[in-house]
Amino acid sequence: MANDSENLLKKVIAHAKEYGFIFPSSEIYDGLSAVYDYGQNGVELKNNIKEYWWKFMTQLHDNIVGIDAAIFMHPTTWKASGHVDAFNDPMIDNKDSKKRYRADVLVEDAIAKMEEKIEKEVEKAAKRFGESFDKTMFAQTNPRVLEYQKKIDEANERLKNAMNSSDMAAMKQLIVDLEINDPISGTKNWTDVRQFNLMFSTEMGSVAEDANKIYLRPETAQGIFVNFLNVQKTGRMKLPFGIAQIGKAFRNEIVARQFIFRMREFEQMEMQFFIKPGTEMEWYESWKNKRMKWHQALGLGSTNYRFHDHLNLAHYANAACDIQFNFPMGFKELEGIHSRTDFDLKSHEKYSGKKLQYFDTETQQSYVPFVVETSVGLDRMFLSILSNSYKEEKLPSAEGEEGNERVVLSIPPALAPYKIAVLPLVKKDGLAEKGLEVFHQLKTDFRCYYEDKDTIGRRYRRMDAIGTPYCITIDHQTLQDNTVTIRERDSMKQERIAIEKVGEKIQRLVSIHELLKKV
Ligand code: ATP
Repeated sequence: MANDSENLLKKVIAHAKEYGFIFPSSEIYDGLSAVYDYGQNGVELKNNIKEYWWKFMTQLHDNIVGIDAAIFMHPTTWKASGHVDAFNDPMIDNKDSKKRYRADVLVEDAIAKMEEKIEKEVEKAAKRFGESFDKTMFAQTNPRVLEYQKKIDEANERLKNAMNSSDMAAMKQLIVDLEINDPISGTKNWTDVRQFNLMFSTEMGSVAEDANKIYLRPETAQGIFVNFLNVQKTGRMKLPFGIAQIGKAFRNEIVARQFIFRMREFEQMEMQFFIKPGTEMEWYESWKNKRMKWHQALGLGSTNYRFHDHLNLAHYANAACDIQFNFPMGFKELEGIHSRTDFDLKSHEKYSGKKLQYFDTETQQSYVPFVVETSVGLDRMFLSILSNSYKEEKLPSAEGEEGNERVVLSIPPALAPYKIAVLPLVKKDGLAEKGLEVFHQLKTDFRCYYEDKDTIGRRYRRMDAIGTPYCITIDHQTLQDNTVTIRERDSMKQERIAIEKVGEKIQRLVSIHELLKKV
C-alpha cells in the first residue's frame, strides 16, 4: 500500500471513531481483533445503505421478496453446502516471530514481488533506450525478464494445483522453493501448512452428551436455499424470481486487517435469483449490469468501480465475477456475482431427502432451478462510501465559515446520517425558541439535528465532519419575515428562503426514492 493510501485509511479510521461512526469492539478491554461496533452516526449510515439495497431489490422488482432467516441452522446445511469440507484457508506459522499467515497469500505476495522486479527492469531499460524503446520486444527477449516470468508462471501453476487438490505439503514446498522469509523475523523457520476451517462453531443443548455442534453461518445464502420451497409455495412465486436477505455472517479469518474490509463478524446483503436451467448466462449478464448501475447511481465516481472475472471458478459456479471498488488499499472486491448452477438446491435435496423442485406449468415439468447470486458486503459498502467521501479542504473565506481548512464527508445526501441541522445564530433574543419550532416542524420528514452552542462556524465544521448535507441558520431576520439561510455542505453556498419552502426544496435531494430512480 502506498504511503498516501495508508495515511488515508488511517485518517478514515480515526475520523470514524472521533465522530461516532465506528468504534473498536469492547474497546475498554483493548478491543477484539477484527470486530467493530457501529456508533450513533455509523448505524444511521448503515441503515440507509440497507434501505437503498432492500428497496432496490424488493420494491423495484416485483418478482423479488425478502426473508430474515436465523443465524443458527441445522448443521447438515453446512455439510450440504460444502463448507464443512471445503471452506478452508491454508495457514502457516513462523516459529520465530510466532506470527500466523495465509500460505496462499505469502505465495501471492512473493509472486507480486517478482512482478515488481520485471517492472523495474523495464523502467531501467526504458530510461537507457529512450524514445526507441519497445516494451513488448524487451519483455519477450530480455533474459532476466524471461527468467522472472518463467518463475512466476511456475509458481502460479503450482499454487493453483496445490489449492485445487488441497495438497498442503506441496504448498509448504512452494514456500520453501520460493525462499520466502517472514516479513517480521526475516527467517525461513516455518511450520507445516495446515488447512484451517473458517467457520465458527459452538454447541447447542444443555447437557454435554446431547449437545450438537452447530455453526455460526459463514454466509446468508444458505438460509435462502433451505427456504426456497417455503417462499415459492406461500408466495405463489413463478420463475424467474428472487429471494433477498440482509444479515450477519461470521468467518474466522486467519489474518483479518484493513479495518472493516475484512472482519470476523460482518453483514451481507445477498439475493438468490432462481431461474430456468439454460438461461443462466442471460441472467448473469443482466444482474452484472443492474448491480453496477446500483453502485454507480451513488455518484462516487464511475472510474472507481470495475469488474474482475474469476479465473479459478468455485466448484459450484459456471461463471463468476467481482465488482471491485477503489478502496484506499487499491481495487478490491466489494460485491460478488456468481452463477451457482443448481449445485446448492441439488445438494440440499440429496442431504435432506426432500424434493426442492419447481413445477413449470408451461412445460408441465418439474426441475431444480438454477441460481444467479448477487452478494455484497454491507461493511465494505460502508467503507467505500466513507473513504470516498472523506475530504480535507482549504477554505475560501466565506460568511460564517471558520478556520482555514475543514474535513468534510461528502456522503451521498440520501445516505447521510442527518439530513438537516437547525442552527440558531445565537441562543438569545428568541432565536433558540424559533429554532426549536423549525426543528420540530421538520423532524417528522427528515432526520434533523439541533444545536445552539458555539460559534456558527464551529457548528458548520461539526456538521461537515459527519456529512450533514444542509444547515439552516435562524437569525434575527427570521423573526421578522420567517426566512432562513440554507447552506449546502459541498459548495458551502448559502441561500435565503422561506421556512415553509425548506422541506420542499431538499426533499428531492435527500430522498432514497429519488436515488432509486437514478438506477
Ligand atoms: P474475499 O475474497 O475478500 O475473502 P470472498 O470472495 O470470500 O471475499 P464472498 O464469499 O463472495 O467473499 O462474500 C460476498 C461478500 O461478502 C464479499 O464480496 C464481501 O463484500 C463480503 N465479505 C466477505 N468476507 C468478508 C469479511 N471477512 N469482512 C467483511 N466483508 C466480507
